[in-house]
Amino acid sequence: LVHAVNVGKSFGKNEVLKGIDLDVHPGEVVVLLGPSGSGKTTFLRCINQLETIDAGRIWVDDDLMGYRDKEGQLYRLKDSEIAAQRREIGMVFQRFNLFPHMTALENVMEAPVQVKGVSKAEAKSQAVDLLERVGLGEKTGHYPSQLSGGQQQRVAIARALAMKPKLMLFDEPTSALDPELVGEVLSVMKELAREGMTMVVVTHEMGFARDVADRVVFMDAGVVVETGPPLEVINNPQHERTKSFLARMR
Ligand code: ATP
Repeated sequence: LVHAVNVGKSFGKNEVLKGIDLDVHPGEVVVLLGPSGSGKTTFLRCINQLETIDAGRIWVDDDLMGYRDKEGQLYRLKDSEIAAQRREIGMVFQRFNLFPHMTALENVMEAPVQVKGVSKAEAKSQAVDLLERVGLGEKTGHYPSQLSGGQQQRVAIARALAMKPKLMLFDEPTSALDPELVGEVLSVMKELAREGMTMVVVTHEMGFARDVADRVVFMDAGVVVETGPPLEVINNPQHERTKSFLARMR
């Protein structure tokens, strides 16, 4: 479902991604691990074109993200075309980014109504279902300020799902949460994985990586150092950089 080839990205002189290759198959859960600054967030943002890439190509399904390929030449898509590609991809950020003046229900209804033109009645019934699915059936009328961080993040997940994405990207979804709230968000993500959602997750939660990931990808300094099934990479890392990172996580 995701096919990334030799992806490069620099910010000025800082070469953050130095030729990343990654394939994610339908229904697969891939966890990106790596030290701070290794480029994990940047790579996620490149997948859905929140950042433009300097080299390489990324396909999501059959879409070449951000570009049209005409006889080997790449032409940048129009903003509206990129927005259409991005609509197929759900993203959950470290900070929940909910609309503060809208209830949980309104937050989840917003994009289907505004962007997809779904009727309010249909969007509402779907939003109620989604909020129930993330365990917030009782909180549909609450504003973000009336919800805990974990509840807000679950609303953010429901909001992303409301667009019926074919891929979900999670950027350290639990790292802004108090420790006692982490589990409720991870269990929603776990359930989503079980239902077959294709997911790429940046997280430092090794338990999640171990239990839920089909594959972990260890990145350092803008390259993929090592990739494999979680138990292999976590219990028996092959590279020094992976070993020292994992030792620090324990
Ligand atoms: P963390 O776990 O801390 O989020 P990360 O592996 O996700 O780390 P990135 O956030 O991708 O790493 O950052 C990689 C590098 O890119 C860092 O050196 C960062 O300062 C730089 N960087 C990221 N975004 C920008 C930007 N918009 N402008 C300039 N530099 C940036």
